[in-house]
Amino acid sequence: MQTRSFNLHTIIEKRVLTQATFILRMERKGIEFVAGQHIQVGPSNGIHTREYSIYSSPEDDYIEILVRQVDDGLVSPALNKLGVGDSVVINDAVGYFTIAEELIKDAKFLFIASGTGISPFHSFVKSYPGIDYKLLHGVRYANETYERDEYEAGRYLACTSQDKEGDFHGRVTDYLSKNPVSPDTLCYLCGNCDMIHDAFDILEAQGLRPENLFTEVYF
Ligand SMILES: Cc1cc2nc3c(=O)[nH]c(=O)nc-3n(C[C@H](O)[C@H](O)[C@H](O)COP(=O)(O)OP(=O)(O)OC[C@H]3O[C@@H](n4cnc5c(N)ncnc54)[C@H](O)[C@@H]3O)c2cc1C
Repeated sequence: MQTRSFNLHTIIEKRVLTQATFILRMERKGIEFVAGQHIQVGPSNGIHTREYSIYSSPEDDYIEILVRQVDDGLVSPALNKLGVGDSVVINDAVGYFTIAEELIKDAKFLFIASGTGISPFHSFVKSYPGIDYKLLHGVRYANETYERDEYEAGRYLACTSQDKEGDFHGRVTDYLSKNPVSPDTLCYLCGNCDMIHDAFDILEAQGLRPENLFTEVYF
């Protein structure tokens, strides 16, 4: 595949969050998007790309992604080798994991993420100041809560399955089973498909209507 130059974006910052997880900030170069959408990103030869939710807000003059390196993966280890000054290819933003504008002011939101599935929620929170949300973040260890200080006190809750250093010891699904969700809540679920399927079933059994449940499956 031939790389088109207008798809090449220079990396302007890299933040290493854990041994496997990092944030790449890249030149925006006019990419238009709505919070919750994703882009395709890959090394500059453009042969292989993968989807990544946009972590930054449409108000920012740069574009950021939060990536977990998958061992033996094709693209994520290659992205992790890159640093400031290197280039990546980026395609146009797409996706429907977004919030209808008329709901932002009055609705009550529950964001449920596993791992890097927190990325679109970071973009929502940054894009919509004053939004009424609670964010459940399922991770293995408390050092995987990434940039938790970015969220208003009391709205972010880490569910840690492998240590007791989080706000809740157990999976997000355990938390949901013990803390029923009010049926008028709009729930957004993002991350791995097992978590999403299990959480979806729990929420439906608690009386939430499927049209109030929004999902984005990563793998
Ligand atoms: C809409 C969408 C948005 C996404 N957004 C993000 C994002 O914001 N951040 C992010 O890190 N990833 C995100 N992903 C996953 C990403 O696209 C890649 O699948 C991931 O980076 C692995 O790519 P790879 O080429 O390194 O591995 P590959 O060579 O493609 O795959 C290796 C194996 O790893 C599995 N896998 C994929 N992701 C993970 C994971 N996180 N943990 C464990 N196993 C995994 C795959 O199912 C596959 O079996 C998103 C996926 C989708 C569909």
